[in-house]
Amino acid sequence: MTHSLLRGDHHVHSTFSDDAVSTLVENVAAAAAAGLTTVRLVDHVRQSTPWVPDYLAAVSALRVPDGLTVLTGVEAKILDASGSLDIPELPAGIDRILIADHQFPGIDGPLGPSAVRERIDGGWATDDVLDQLVAALIASMRRHPGNQLAHCFSILPKIGLSEDDLGQDRVSAWAKAAAETDTMVEVNEKWGCPGIPLLDALRDAGAEIVASTDSHIARDVGRYARVSEMLDRWEGR
Ligand SMILES: [Zn+2]
Ligand SMILES: [Zn+2]
Repeated sequence: MTHSLLRGDHHVHSTFSDDAVSTLVENVAAAAAAGLTTVRLVDHVRQSTPWVPDYLAAVSALRVPDGLTVLTGVEAKILDASGSLDIPELPAGIDRILIADHQFPGIDGPLGPSAVRERIDGGWATDDVLDQLVAALIASMRRHPGNQLAHCFSILPKIGLSEDDLGQDRVSAWAKAAAETDTMVEVNEKWGCPGIPLLDALRDAGAEIVASTDSHIARDVGRYARVSEMLDRWEGR
């Protein structure tokens, strides 16, 4: 059975991102071919990114097939524990920012995974690491409401932890903040996260869940394996 969430793909990269190979036009054609009803075209930005107006103009110029809704977005990392984001001044027309845990939100700025593992080896308590991460995610949602969490908690395995380490209180607070701030949370094909207990918490809190492939090439747009399997298990229990 195909889950209704799989008719959407809320995280699709084009050549505006350094590491993606398909154009906006190719991605829209692929979305239509995959039978999607919604596709969110998203590219990576930093504070210094100059091309967002060009990206929006290119999206406006797209010929969109009947039955497909095209949404816009930019993906930006959380910079620090206060929840600030690595985004340029955004013109009107960007529907949602994808808030990404590409690095660990440190007090003074982003920390790479190996730096975090070193600090954990040096005595940084896991509870404190997780408190800081979840507080930063919540702060980013409160500072930038109405956006989307990209592959949330994909940072955890990189720092030697897992979603199972989060515990119910942190998960509940995170899900409640998503609901209160109109933050969509994507279930991400590339990273296979967040997992079922977190989806339960989001549903209990009333937060909106969407599916995404995080595709970097048109043939992957709207093609789900891990997310499909996960949603089947989630619904099947
Ligand atoms: Zn990402
Ligand atoms: Zn991405």
